[in-house]
Amino acid sequence: MDTTPLKKQIVETAQELVRKGFLMATGGNISLRVPGQAAFAITPSNYDYFKMMPDDVCVLDFGLNPLEGHLKPSVEAAMHGAIYQARGDVNAIIHTHQAYASALTLIKAPIPALFDEQARFLGRSVEIIPYAPSGTGFLKDAVAKHVKNHNNAFMMQNHGALVFGHDMERAIHNVEILEKCSLAYLLALCTEKKISKIPLAVREIAFSKLRSDQKKIEQGFSGLGGE
Ligand code: 13P
Ligand code: ZN
Repeated sequence: MDTTPLKKQIVETAQELVRKGFLMATGGNISLRVPGQAAFAITPSNYDYFKMMPDDVCVLDFGLNPLEGHLKPSVEAAMHGAIYQARGDVNAIIHTHQAYASALTLIKAPIPALFDEQARFLGRSVEIIPYAPSGTGFLKDAVAKHVKNHNNAFMMQNHGALVFGHDMERAIHNVEILEKCSLAYLLALCTEKKISKIPLAVREIAFSKLRSDQKKIEQGFSGLGGE
């Protein structure tokens, strides 16, 4: 298939996320599944997002063999590939070093279900994936193990955030929801007062809606409702 629209969307998303403050310098990486193929398009490694052109985006198969592109792919390409193989409902992946989620990783504080929209779109909680150095097989293996819980957002200890969507728009919104939750949780933690969570039953209803969306995507439906 012609991957140009995927590559354009990756570049536009990267630039939008820099403008909004979720990506800094050349940190983070973004990818999209190539529909119907065991392949994905991903940002090149260590490359200025505002210099990036669609043709700079790399396309790799799940064996990490290069299919398109002239630059070195992201050092986290193996991690992205493992997520697409583990999660048939995920078509877009954004990894950022966004500040507030990164701060929570330093105190190893997973985010419990605090808000309805969080449970609906990110999952039951935002877990901390134990530290492994960037770009290593250790990190890829730790991530591949955690993502089986069907959540759509994770935090990597002493590193940053990892967020999924069935499409790029959803993944961007999930990055924004995660940062809002992270900031609110950090502020609440600073008060040292008891932190209230949403009722368990509400969390489970929201999560079951997310699971239902995920199953539809895996079965090839498109055009999910938002509620
Ligand atoms: P890349 O520039 O190779 O994608 O690395 C950035 C990063 O965030 C590594 O975790
Ligand atoms: Zn990183």
